[in-house]
Amino acid sequence: MSVSATSRPAWDDDPVVSGWAGLPALERGSTADVCVVGLGGSGLAAAADLVDRGLDVVGIDAGRIAAGAAGRNGGFLLGGPATFLHTALATWGPCAVDLYRATLAEIDSLEGLLGSDVVRRTGSIRLAGVPGAPVELADSEDCDALAQCLRENDIAVEQYSGELGRGIFLPDDAVMNPARRALGLASILAGRARLYEHTPATAIGPGAVTTPSGVIRCGLVLVAVDGRLEQVLPQLDGRVRTARLQMLATSPVTPRRLPCPVYGRWGYDYAQQDASGRLYVGGGRDLFVDDEWTPSDEPTAQVQDYIESVATSFAGESFSVVARWAASVGFTADGRPLCTVVDDTVVAFGGYNGTGNLVGPVTARAAVALGLDGIAVPQYLSS
Ligand SMILES: Cc1cc2nc3c(=O)[nH]c(=O)nc-3n(C[C@H](O)[C@H](O)[C@H](O)COP(=O)(O)OP(=O)(O)OC[C@H]3O[C@@H](n4cnc5c(N)ncnc54)[C@H](O)[C@@H]3O)c2cc1C
Repeated sequence: MSVSATSRPAWDDDPVVSGWAGLPALERGSTADVCVVGLGGSGLAAAADLVDRGLDVVGIDAGRIAAGAAGRNGGFLLGGPATFLHTALATWGPCAVDLYRATLAEIDSLEGLLGSDVVRRTGSIRLAGVPGAPVELADSEDCDALAQCLRENDIAVEQYSGELGRGIFLPDDAVMNPARRALGLASILAGRARLYEHTPATAIGPGAVTTPSGVIRCGLVLVAVDGRLEQVLPQLDGRVRTARLQMLATSPVTPRRLPCPVYGRWGYDYAQQDASGRLYVGGGRDLFVDDEWTPSDEPTAQVQDYIESVATSFAGESFSVVARWAASVGFTADGRPLCTVVDDTVVAFGGYNGTGNLVGPVTARAAVALGLDGIAVPQYLSS
């Protein structure tokens, strides 16, 4: 396998994404009520919340909108935290259910904003094992335990048994092209907030964000960076840890082989299929965990070879690989995302443990309430 195939995510082949005209870089210092650093799904959600309050907002990203994981991920919109609900309930208590409900509400909100062609309400399948491979009994039992927990909490779940294997179907979940989501949100925000691409924050302190072209002075700074947050704010070293997650995309296979996003083997391996038949496949971090604790976002041969084998299981036929890529995400020790005041007037949030498409925006709203109103964050977040 050649890992140099491309490190550009296949999501960027979408005409809306490849046709993105881009936003300007900041050219000189500025002032604002609030500066949002990082314009992935979380930073964009924070910016939207802020302009809805009538505030003057500047948002900056070091690269293109969603240059990080927000534009390079699996596109799954799954209810709940990264930790399966029954496990999260056992360790965090009832607040885990609150987070689950908040993420389901976030799917509704995203669908309302972006439309059902971007946010597709397909449901999702959690398989025991991956298609065609032997199933670990404990994985199968864990699927059952999750289903029971969901039922006890009035969250929709059905048994799945079909050509992919056995598991559970979660009808409330959804799927998207993640880059489409981010650029769609940025388009809606343009004109209401001043957003700048290719503008890295080189220093962040109380009321001031330094960029190569000048300082942004503001009453509040929100740092919305998931992976590598501890590099942007070294005082968070030890509270969040950066890992690399990797994916690939295949040439088209038989359409509707995957009726919805599917994840298996304890959720570690996952794939979705687009209308053209392409599969977008990721996983395997747990098998190479020592090497994947890294701030690097370059794909590697060992993980890509493994993901290719997963893609073979999901495809059930031969294909070629059209793109390989990776990105950084943040992990926390107890699985609860971080949302914390790091300095006078600076609030940082991230550390979604590999599942931030919905948990990120939920956390962003808590960060806005914390930073502006002094409202303590919900128990499902770590302050
Ligand atoms: C391969 C992969 C698959 C995944 N699959 C899923 C999935 O299917 N479902 C799911 O829910 N989650 C998934 N995730 C996790 C999810 O992508 C992230 O948790 C989520 O995107 C985090 O969004 P964010 O906006 O908080 O942070 P990020 O996406 O990390 O965005 C932060 C932004 O900050 C910018 N930035 C960084 N430093 C600076 C700086 N100094 N100055 C200015 N800007 C800066 C970056 O350029 C970036 O655009 C996956 C992640 C990966 C890598």
